[in-house]
Amino acid sequence: MNKRINQVLVLVCFGFLSISFISAQGTVVNDDAMAGINQNGNWLSYGRTHSEQRFSPLANITKENVGALQPDWYFPIPNSRSLVSTPLVVDGVIYFVASLNIVRALDATSGEELWSFNPQVGEVAPERMRAGWDNSRGIAIWEDNLFVATWDGRLISLNRESGEQLWSTQTIDPELAMYITGAPKAFKGKVLIGNGGTENGPNRGYVTAYDAETGDQVWRFWIVPGNPADGFEDDAMEMAAETWTGEWWRHGGGGNSWHGWTYDAELDQLYIGTGNGSPWNRKIRSPGGGDNLFLDSIVALDPDNGAYLWHHQNTPGETWDYNSNMDIVLADLFIDGEPIKALMQAPKNGFFYVINRQNGELLSAEKITEVTWASHYDLETARPVEFPGVRYETSAVRISPGPVGAHSWHAMSFNPNTGLAYIPSIHSSTVYGDEGIDIENFEREQWRLNTGVNSRPGGDTRDDAPASLQAWDPVRQEQVWEVLADNIWNAGTLTTASNILFQGRADGHLIAYDAETGEELWDYDLGLGISAPPITYAIDDKQYLALLVGWGGSMAALGGPQAAEHGWSYGAQERRLVAFSLDGTAILPKQAPPLVPQPLPSSDFIVNQDLALEGGREFNGTCSMCHGGGAIAAGIAPDLRASGIPLLREAFENVVRNGALSDNGMPIYRDLTDEQLESLRHYIRSQAEAALRSNQ
Ligand code: CA
Repeated sequence: MNKRINQVLVLVCFGFLSISFISAQGTVVNDDAMAGINQNGNWLSYGRTHSEQRFSPLANITKENVGALQPDWYFPIPNSRSLVSTPLVVDGVIYFVASLNIVRALDATSGEELWSFNPQVGEVAPERMRAGWDNSRGIAIWEDNLFVATWDGRLISLNRESGEQLWSTQTIDPELAMYITGAPKAFKGKVLIGNGGTENGPNRGYVTAYDAETGDQVWRFWIVPGNPADGFEDDAMEMAAETWTGEWWRHGGGGNSWHGWTYDAELDQLYIGTGNGSPWNRKIRSPGGGDNLFLDSIVALDPDNGAYLWHHQNTPGETWDYNSNMDIVLADLFIDGEPIKALMQAPKNGFFYVINRQNGELLSAEKITEVTWASHYDLETARPVEFPGVRYETSAVRISPGPVGAHSWHAMSFNPNTGLAYIPSIHSSTVYGDEGIDIENFEREQWRLNTGVNSRPGGDTRDDAPASLQAWDPVRQEQVWEVLADNIWNAGTLTTASNILFQGRADGHLIAYDAETGEELWDYDLGLGISAPPITYAIDDKQYLALLVGWGGSMAALGGPQAAEHGWSYGAQERRLVAFSLDGTAILPKQAPPLVPQPLPSSDFIVNQDLALEGGREFNGTCSMCHGGGAIAAGIAPDLRASGIPLLREAFENVVRNGALSDNGMPIYRDLTDEQLESLRHYIRSQAEAALRSNQ
């Protein structure tokens, strides 16, 4: 009521403002505001508008003056690691989520902190932190409420003026090894959240919509069918069950939707991107074959009740960890002279899809990189044509793309002026096989990585570069320009009405390109790997460019030598939110140089090789999620080969079994036996000694 009176007052006093959605109290963040291209300088939702284009009409920063960008302010983020999220800006306040799901509100002109909210993940759920990544890709706002989803599965609503908690609801069964990394999606007075966990246990994916005011569940959509004996939740699950064989429900099925949710305000439809199978190997999951709906699909739902509308499955019967959890971007395209309400996606499997979103019809699908699992798409059947032998039927086989994907969650943007989509893409392969795996008697536990596949890196698929930034014409389905990249884990993109494209890279450089040609216009070295996409906003006509700087995501978590090489190691460099402007005068303190942790020598610790072997199995099923495969860490957590803690039995027990560092994000493993603890110490030390020997 108050708001309406204020709005009327505004209309009376300032008639020229009547076209905007601004009241005297400020912007009302609702569907009209989030769908509109003109957001009064704000950045209101994950992809800026409901179209998810990450296109800004702000044009004060131009190709001519972009070279003058300088830091305007910065905010150091203590005790933070992996920063991958998109900040939001409303009426002079910038909101963002960092490590441990801590949310902050800052003055967007100065970086001064207004409030912070800590959901205390380590205190609330120290066991559950073992499922997943200390990441969050963002937050959502609906009217006066701000939403954050936590590692341990809570969806929390905050008052965005004060940071005070309004409600909290648990969205995941605490027994299941699932977690949340996605940014909640707000629309029509509701807020949607999904989850991850396909690799962590025999889990079954779903998305849920909650009432934005009360937190009450409005609807839930299951992505794969459960046991038919229990009855199906809806007709869509009954239809999906026709495409599965064997006793798939014993393995969960997967399909977890951890990212890729778009609300189409024009057509009043919701699109969700779905995940890969649980386990990866279809021979285990669905031994008689089948498409396994709705794995690796785009599914359109009724936003009011979650009812199925249509779907397109990108990879029928997927068996390579291909998921379609990537951004779903909406645009009006002219195809064969016809205006089309299109939907675009570049999922892991290497094709770029253009779909008529009114009916789900596949209009085109072309390869953005080397794709060796399928020769092409048959548009008559809307299905890919697979090469023989690609399902490792008889022997291990090298396939491109691999599980890291041709494109992952790093934001794709679309510029309606240039007509181009901008994709951070990866050109690599993986060798898949299942020799030695007991397909028939396969069993999995919760909280343990197990994919039912033996996979190992298969190398780059191009001679010139392992990755690139591609400008892609979705109408002609061809590349217009490309910039090669030395590293595979580069960040998401932003494009503006001045036809500039911004992207941060794994090497710590933030670059501005000419969006039409790919020519480099500006390069700023931030001294730490960038994994988050930039945003732009304006306050009193002054345009800012802002981004989180903090190496993160699966490369920083799963580690390995290639990821560790960057030297963005745990605690070495300061994690920051940095804002640039054309008249910025802030001086960023120099970052510490890249640091690759060196293994600690010890003459006292005598490694027992049998124990080390046993510890290796334990480590690589759980600890490796953050401390890195082979105990080679890359930023999210300390490199244990360089730590003194594994050398001391009591200190190790305090941290691992008693939770001494749970406030820092280290989970508690109460169930580990004395022998398991010992075996872990021996594995870590054996890896330290192996590294010391190879350094000599
Ligand atoms: Ca996966």
